[in-house]
Amino acid sequence: MNCKKCSGKLEVHRACRRIRLRCTLCHKEYQIHEIASELDRETEKVLENYTAIIYD
Ligand SMILES: [Zn+2]
Repeated sequence: MNCKKCSGKLEVHRACRRIRLRCTLCHKEYQIHEIASELDRETEKVLENYTAIIYD
């Protein structure tokens, strides 16, 4: 999963009960629903570990 702005790698970033994908290069954060339709399999697997978290 790569950043739309700079194509950097996105990593799952957890803060309290919220979860975001954050770019490792430009540090732009994406909400899950913003990119839900574009999630790749690798990222989906990581997110499966956070099922208790509310996707706000
Ligand atoms: Zn970026």
